[in-house]
Amino acid sequence: MICQRCLEPAALPVHGEYIYAMVREGDSERSLPKGYDALEVGEEPLDVLTMVEDELLLSLPIVPVHDAKVCQQPAGQDEPEPNENEVSRSNPFSVLAQLKRDPNV
Ligand SMILES: [Zn+2]
Repeated sequence: MICQRCLEPAALPVHGEYIYAMVREGDSERSLPKGYDALEVGEEPLDVLTMVEDELLLSLPIVPVHDAKVCQQPAGQDEPEPNENEVSRSNPFSVLAQLKRDPNV
């Protein structure tokens, strides 16, 4: 994954715990004990790898970022400080303010 703060590759630990209860195809899931996910087993052999993969994908963060301690771009410095001289020179609003002050316009 790519860190969305510094755009460097990031290895993020993923942790998840899942409890499954096997149910036969067509059986009601309502009879499951609390905290259990239904794992429907039918004629097809169970694809555990795909199942784990899906669960891991679901537990991934939506916006991956490094831990603040290791990120190349420390938090709070996302935006470069604007050069003050450049801002006042090219500020389009200062032109508008001059126009407003002129009574002939
Ligand atoms: Zn980062």
